[in-house]
Parts: sequence; structure tokens; C-alpha cells
Amino acid sequence: MMIEQPLDYDDVSDHARLQKKLKTPICLDESIKTVAIAREAIGAGACRIINIKPGRVGGFGESIRLHDLCASCDIPVWHGGMLESGIGRAANIHLSTLPNFTLPGDVAASRRYFDPDLIDPPIEIGPDGTIGVPPGPGIGVAIREDRVARATLKHAVLEAAHA
Ligand SMILES: [Mg+2]
Repeated sequence: MMIEQPLDYDDVSDHARLQKKLKTPICLDESIKTVAIAREAIGAGACRIINIKPGRVGGFGESIRLHDLCASCDIPVWHGGMLESGIGRAANIHLSTLPNFTLPGDVAASRRYFDPDLIDPPIEIGPDGTIGVPPGPGIGVAIREDRVARATLKHAVLEAAHA
């Protein structure tokens, strides 16, 4: 249904040339670091699908702006997972509920990669292959502070500058 990132990350023009020759949609992943690059890639016809990873584009604000741009251009998106802990994974699930995330995403169960994960209870995949949106306030999962402390390598306190 798609070919993901067949060429170099900085090669929008050749992706555009290739996409024009293919019936199969090209999905850009590594190329899309910002909304501005996505606008350029879509305008050039370099892709028909985009993969959104918050860790690649600089966070959830840019992810939402990217989602909105793609929605306005009829470019469906899907959520690409990286190796987030359960905390990032929960936030990813919430992001994936936006309406233009119409393709199956990469978000997996939280205990698949970390033992133990930083949240409890873990995020589980249901028997139908879907993951429920964590209920409750915030990102909807309980963070195990003891596990965060055990996994912490470095600690810093940042103070706001006084005007
Ligand atoms: Mg990829």
C-alpha cells in the first residue's frame, strides 16, 4: 500500500520524480523534519502519505501542525513509533486519535521494549489488535516514580530567569 522513504532523507526532488512514475504511494518519514519541509515535499508531489514521529519532528506541537497540514492537503498520515517508554507511548496514542491518522500506526504495547516499563498498569493490545486510549486526566497513565528514579542517569534542575 506504500513504499516508505525509498531515497535519501534530503532528496525531496528525486522522491517527486519517482512518485510521478509510481502508482504506489510513497510515504516520507526521515525527510519530514518540519512542517516547512512537509509543505515543500507535498507541493513537489514527493509523497502521498506521511509518517509522523514526534521524536523526529521536535515534539507534539509540530506533530499536530504537521497533521493539520497533511489533512488540508488530503495526505493521510500514520504514527511511527520509536523506542518510547510507556510515558511517550501514552502521548503517542493520544496524538493518533486525531482524525487524519487514518492508517495503522506503529504504537505497540508498553512492556514490549522495557522491563519494567515506567508506567503501571502497562498499555496492552486488545484481542482485536487495537489499543484503547488511556482514560483519565493528562496522558491517562500512572507513572511509577520509583522506576523513573531507578532509570535516571542524570538529574538537573532548570530555574526560570527572573525578569
Ligand atoms: Mg521509516
